[in-house]
Amino acid sequence: MTYPIQKTEAQWQALLQDKGAEPGAFQVTRRAATERPFTGKYEGHWADGSYHCICCGAKLFDSGTKFDAGCGWPSFSQAMPGAIREIEDRSHGMLRTETVCAQCGAHLGHVFPDGPAPTGLRYCMNSASLDFESPAP
Ligand SMILES: [Zn+2]
Repeated sequence: MTYPIQKTEAQWQALLQDKGAEPGAFQVTRRAATERPFTGKYEGHWADGSYHCICCGAKLFDSGTKFDAGCGWPSFSQAMPGAIREIEDRSHGMLRTETVCAQCGAHLGHVFPDGPAPTGLRYCMNSASLDFESPAP
């Protein structure tokens, strides 16, 4: 699968380091690792603003769609239109829907059909894949 933004693994590693991303960010975004629950910096983060891809900066979520799913990862009921690509994931003996950044292919987490109305979706994200931006003053 190809994405508009392409970089080598070394380039992503350098970019994440320059941005001051979480130590696990490379493993999560480029190797589809999952951070441990209740450890991410955005799990209990409720400020107004927007959440962007840590790798390429694409806007993924508005803070207004974030909700407390109690699962230990930042959860959202709705993504920005076109921002996320969904991929069938049959790893770990489960059928899940993986979510990746549509611009750069960064692994973000999974989406489950058990979220709140009106979408009924729960985008279960890794904090390490996200970069929060406060609204412009
Ligand atoms: Zn991205």
